[in-house]
Amino acid sequence: MNALELTRALLRFNTINPPGEERACAQHLGRLLEDAGFTVRSYEYAAGRTSLVARLGGSTDRPPLCFAGHIDTVPLGATRWQRDPFAGETAGGRLYGRGSSDMKSGVAAFVTAACNLGARLHGTPGLALVIVAGEETGCDGSRHLTRTAGALGEAGAIVVAEPTGNHPCVGHKGALWLHGRTTGVTAHGSMPERGVNAVYKAARAVTLLERFTFDATPHLVLGAPTLNVGTITGGLNINSVPDAATVGIDLRTIPGQRHEEVRERLSRYLGGEVALTPVVDVEGVWTDPDHPWLQEVFDLATPFLGARPAVRAAPYFTDASLLTPAYGGPPTVILGPGELEQAHQTDEYCRIDCIEQAVELYEAIARRWCGV
Ligand SMILES: [Zn+2]
Repeated sequence: MNALELTRALLRFNTINPPGEERACAQHLGRLLEDAGFTVRSYEYAAGRTSLVARLGGSTDRPPLCFAGHIDTVPLGATRWQRDPFAGETAGGRLYGRGSSDMKSGVAAFVTAACNLGARLHGTPGLALVIVAGEETGCDGSRHLTRTAGALGEAGAIVVAEPTGNHPCVGHKGALWLHGRTTGVTAHGSMPERGVNAVYKAARAVTLLERFTFDATPHLVLGAPTLNVGTITGGLNINSVPDAATVGIDLRTIPGQRHEEVRERLSRYLGGEVALTPVVDVEGVWTDPDHPWLQEVFDLATPFLGARPAVRAAPYFTDASLLTPAYGGPPTVILGPGELEQAHQTDEYCRIDCIEQAVELYEAIARRWCGV
């Protein structure tokens, strides 16, 4: 199997989320994995929103190694693309397309590595491939798998194939996205004294949010938690007193911060005028870089990077936020062929040599785990 050709095949499925529609893309991967001897089960959290769990091998001495990735992509954005986002165009050593870096190349690379190993995995700890829908809107596919009894099975370590330029990352922050809603009483815009203005309440909240400080000690690698107000909406027409407004708040947390506590503290801080509801709620992950398995991954990655990798974190969140706790906290690495800066960009691309290197690296990690 050729990982570049598989990535191109995956790019041809439009899985822009929203709306998602991952089913055909998932089925394509499912057929390939079944042909290679994997047992494949599919799970839908809504019509057409298909995730897969594929397994091969299994032994009593060690749980399987898990490779994880998502097959949905973000929308194309407002800027016109110079390349066809779905054709899998190649030029100058790059493969272009929506999802080329984030992260159809990563999924194609681990599926290729898994299929290459195929029958040799029988009688070994084996592999569990978790390929999910709906990551970009807050890990919906992964959340569904964690809530479906027996879907995930076991895993002793996790490789999340998100874009890192094949540099192992040992953790990332969590994300807590909240809608802060204010309400008021509408009235004619010529008689504002008869109403209660929800936008004024939202404006007061935004001013407070700009000054909010966390009571957490910064993480050595991940740094301090952050807060950003990303959106503000309110009012329907210029000549009415608005009776509703919403502020979109993006908090990035560090491991050890409990999201429920963060939300409660923020709620107290903002006072009774603002009702907070979570939109995305995924906690951070972190594996001690001295963990023997991570050291092994660092060893295996070294020849591809030209030097032993430094300890790094990913700037975004991943399905590990859901999968790692669901598997009981095994060591987790974020490691994939996509270019980190290319995720969500116009004319997104992935370096073709990185895809090929990722296949080799994943195969090496899997062989070491399975002893083949
Ligand atoms: Zn991604």
